[in-house]
Amino acid sequence: MVMVGTDQAEVDRRLRRGELSCPCGAGRLAPWGHARTRTIRGLGVLRPRRARCPACLATHVLLAVSGLLRRADAAEVVGAALTLKASGVGHRRIAARLGRAASTVRGWLRAFAGNAERVRAAFTALLAELDPVPGPVPPAGSVFADAVQAVGAAAAAARRRLGLAGAVSAWQLASAATAGGLLAPAGPAEWINTGWPLGAGR
Ligand SMILES: [Zn+2]
Repeated sequence: MVMVGTDQAEVDRRLRRGELSCPCGAGRLAPWGHARTRTIRGLGVLRPRRARCPACLATHVLLAVSGLLRRADAAEVVGAALTLKASGVGHRRIAARLGRAASTVRGWLRAFAGNAERVRAAFTALLAELDPVPGPVPPAGSVFADAVQAVGAAAAAARRRLGLAGAVSAWQLASAATAGGLLAPAGPAEWINTGWPLGAGR
């Protein structure tokens, strides 16, 4: 289940209006306090809304998708470029494959390379928060590739632990978790708190 709201206020509004259905299919979610506050090093403080289904009595943690909707396409394309680069493809071939200008792709790759160590650290911390026993993420051979891998591992853990629907990709998550700042010169210092993406869990 993905709770689509542009920010926490929007999620709350939709919740109060009874617009969010429980995955059980039998009930509309109602406000049920908040989930515990989580501080994620390098990312910020999360205080997700909790909701309860009156039909099955399950509770769910609702997370906002700030920035996600607007940036979804861009996040996907940029993410595809970063993934290709991490596997050794050069920027011209990436540009041709994605139908973007080579100079644009090179700009993305340089910006991400500049943030790579901070991205790696932030998403490794997020992974540890989502999954206390994640097992080691094997080195991918470069800081750039390690960072791309950390994003993927955190997204996979988010799906496992929060019950996220497949509708939200690793790069959408990364974009939302960093408030669109994956490529920003300021890097993680500007990164989130209410922008934490997605779905639901227990
Ligand atoms: Zn239910």
